[in-house]
Amino acid sequence: MFLSFSGLLPSPWSVSTLRRALLAAACLLHGPWAAATTEILPVHRIALDVYVIAAPLADPDPSNGGRVVNTGFVIGRTGVVVIDSGANHRHGEAILAAVARVTTKPVALLINTHPHPQNVLGNSAFADRGIPILATSATVAAMTERCPACQASLGQSVGDEAMRGTRIRLPDTLVPVSQAQEVAGRQLRLLHFGHGHTEGDLAVFDEATAVLFSGDLVYGGQIPHLSEANTVGWIAALNQVAELPIRMLVPGRGPVGGAGDLALTRRYLAELRRRVAAAYLEGRTPDEAIKLAELPEFSDWHGYAARHGRNVQHVYFEIERDDLGGQREARR
Ligand SMILES: [Zn+2]
Repeated sequence: MFLSFSGLLPSPWSVSTLRRALLAAACLLHGPWAAATTEILPVHRIALDVYVIAAPLADPDPSNGGRVVNTGFVIGRTGVVVIDSGANHRHGEAILAAVARVTTKPVALLINTHPHPQNVLGNSAFADRGIPILATSATVAAMTERCPACQASLGQSVGDEAMRGTRIRLPDTLVPVSQAQEVAGRQLRLLHFGHGHTEGDLAVFDEATAVLFSGDLVYGGQIPHLSEANTVGWIAALNQVAELPIRMLVPGRGPVGGAGDLALTRRYLAELRRRVAAAYLEGRTPDEAIKLAELPEFSDWHGYAARHGRNVQHVYFEIERDDLGGQREARR
């Protein structure tokens, strides 16, 4: 026998009033982020069974919740491969919801392209569903070392609310070197070229469509972040990536394009190294090098004012380290 709750309530309580009260109680219990997990991310189909969830050219702040890197997914015969999990648990949930709007196939694998927080802190949403997470072993080591601090730092930029529910979840499936792999009926090339943008960079090439998800090896219209970079290794990686028969390129940040974007990122890095090396060899200080290594052709890229000077310093110290290391070797 079922009792009607409305019959047990004082007269001013209608069923709809009760429903509203229960909803309000649920929000108090779970916080407004619980409702936000159903938010709709725009999904773009860029090739047959290949989708991108594009992010704006921006730095993390409360208005974007840290969603400043592109993520995407590829639908195979039996399941879906997602590339990067987003900046926090909510973002990961929203990506999974976006996949579910496109296909009923299960998510078979999440790939982390590299250990930066905007790319991996949504992992907990995938781990909660038992979805395997793949990355290079170098990414796992870097996440273990840096993610606690990165999570705190990202929280300061975007606010605690955006980060609520976020837990660090390490990848459980490792790829030590480049390899071809069939996942969920989709033939992928997982490409690791050593230390470039970060220690653990992994690019994903979809054989069927010749779409490359480059991770942050390629930036579109944005000054790259160099804080964990080895710029010599990065340029070498881009040279190898350029050998692929790329039809479309999904950069880590910026609009979807082609191999030309790869060449632009390479040009920025090469020009940066050339100008900084010249300043170093003239005996200039890092501060003087910043003034001497302006690159006006990239000044309209997002983040130039904020990051280019820091990038000059990073490269200056790379060159100095190599130089002093070489001198030590010569004395042996
Ligand atoms: Zn990155």
